[in-house]
Amino acid sequence: MKGKRIPIIAANWKMYKTISEMEEFLSQFLPLISDIEDRKVVIAPNFLCLERMVSISKGKNLITCAQNMYFEEEGAFTGEISPRMLKAIGVSWVILGHSERRHIFGEDDELIGKKVSSAVSHGMFPILCIGETLEERERGETGKVLKKQLKTGLSRLGAEGLKNVTIAYEPVWAIGTGKTASLSQIQEAHSLVREEIKKLGGEDIAEKIRILYGGSVKPDNVKGIMELEDVDGALVGGASLGVDSFIKIVKFDEN
Ligand code: PEP
Repeated sequence: MKGKRIPIIAANWKMYKTISEMEEFLSQFLPLISDIEDRKVVIAPNFLCLERMVSISKGKNLITCAQNMYFEEEGAFTGEISPRMLKAIGVSWVILGHSERRHIFGEDDELIGKKVSSAVSHGMFPILCIGETLEERERGETGKVLKKQLKTGLSRLGAEGLKNVTIAYEPVWAIGTGKTASLSQIQEAHSLVREEIKKLGGEDIAEKIRILYGGSVKPDNVKGIMELEDVDGALVGGASLGVDSFIKIVKFDEN
């Protein structure tokens, strides 16, 4: 599928689930993915769940991912978590620049770029989220916005660093709203992202980088989305919270 790009199905649990609710989920979910080898399954729970999730999923086909981090290693940054702290508990994947971080917590492209660069320099694998608002789309600015978010978000990386990065295209108006972008809107945005990556890092990196789609992905729309040429996976919020719906998304080709 899609050359050598192995698909990634990633769950963003946002601020849901206690540690025991996470354990209950994994006790049902892990046996269901034990035979999967041809895709990566990622779950990003809240910070409190990370260490326990790493230990429960040891040797299993599940990658534990953080939802955010600060770019410094340590210091007077109350309330923040550093790449060093994540690495120390065995977490190497991190979502950065999610639209809720941008729009609720005021993160801008500069800050996100520093986080992406810090993650890569600590040997981590950031999932950089980008996406336009409804107003930006209606003004015809989708391409301009995505290019800026990519350029600034990745500006501190060389071609080598880009190899660690996954991009998630998540139109803000489709996140948690039940509105999915149309297949043509998704493919158009993903192909633009791949073109931009080609300009930033060259053809080889652009062919290898994975671009996930996020925004109201559900069991009944995932298959069509995953068939698009430049879609290499999904970042799933609401529909990842239940075992039944998330496993159907993970096994999108069996639906
Ligand atoms: C997300 O949180 O990244 C997301 C895409 O949420 P949802 O699937 O609920 O739209």
